Amino acid sequence: MIGPAMSAPFVSRHAYRIAVARAPQIPIFRGYAAIAESGMPTRDPEGRKLTILLASPRGFCAGVDRAIQIVQRALERFGAPVYVRHEIVHNRHVVEELERQGAVFVEELDEIPGQYPVVFSAHGVPKSVPADAEARKLLYLDATCPLVSKVHREAEVHFNAGHHLILIGHAGHPEVIGTIGQLPPGAVTLIETIADAEALEFKEATRLAYITQTTLSIDDTIGIIEVLRRRFPAIHGPRKEDICYATTNRQSAVKSIAERCDLMLVIGAPNSSNSRRLVEVAKSCGCPAAYLVQKAEEIDWAWLETVDTVGITAGASAPELLVQQVINQLQERYDVTIEEVSVTVETTHFKLPRALTA
Ligand code: SF4
Repeated sequence: MIGPAMSAPFVSRHAYRIAVARAPQIPIFRGYAAIAESGMPTRDPEGRKLTILLASPRGFCAGVDRAIQIVQRALERFGAPVYVRHEIVHNRHVVEELERQGAVFVEELDEIPGQYPVVFSAHGVPKSVPADAEARKLLYLDATCPLVSKVHREAEVHFNAGHHLILIGHAGHPEVIGTIGQLPPGAVTLIETIADAEALEFKEATRLAYITQTTLSIDDTIGIIEVLRRRFPAIHGPRKEDICYATTNRQSAVKSIAERCDLMLVIGAPNSSNSRRLVEVAKSCGCPAAYLVQKAEEIDWAWLETVDTVGITAGASAPELLVQQVINQLQERYDVTIEEVSVTVETTHFKLPRALTA
């Protein structure tokens, strides 16, 4: 058996790679596939064949990996409890596992009952949050993904150059709240759709710049940017949209298999922006049906009644363990063949904050 996967409730991307590298003689899927949480699955009476196209890359990105490590290292260094403001990443499994290790999740800093360390989530926070932590004399660790921080810096540079900011993103998403909160009230206009871009009105002298949320649909965002550039030809923006490498790669991997699949299962949380985009991308690229499930138990087996080929992917905050549980359930029911389709190999890695490595 591959040790780390069987002993750890979730496995970091790096641990996964190391485990696979150390045990090349063991089929990857056997090592991870032995975990069924409840009940015996019903074997298809006709022994139906099912092909799984496994999208790669999928699951944890470097930003999520780093955020989880920050909480775990903080627990090691300071002991429990370590408080975490908001879900560290959008995945219940990850949150519950960290709670088991001693993390306490809160919505706001005033819920922290004393001088305990606090970690800010990977999505980023408005500037008022670290300021509030300092006022409360709390030790804080910022797990904001460096690629989100990069967007924050872009916003500041544009603002300091006298631009009004247009942010393409989803209202209410923590990343959007954090990005808007980098600048004074009124400095940012949020738009979500092409229709929003068409409806924008500014005084003639207004100098404009745009930035984007990191986890959007690439194709939808390109359409919105085209409208902005047509309507405001002098608008400034990033050379490429701010959509991150992980979002881009996961969407590309889904696109590469979508037409071959009768159904796509996306493992991810309902509040995970990048996971929801994977469902949309699958459907828009030719897959007749796509569903977002948090874990194997959420699969409605009626979905698979007439399916020969199922695609599987996972959002950037979903651990590989959950993917393997889905594969395990499918293997219990059907005569399964697995083909992993990789569009690229990711090597991105982000350093931990110095406070945890010194
Ligand atoms: Fe960072 Fe992209 Fe992962 Fe978000 S999805 S944490 S921006 S790498």
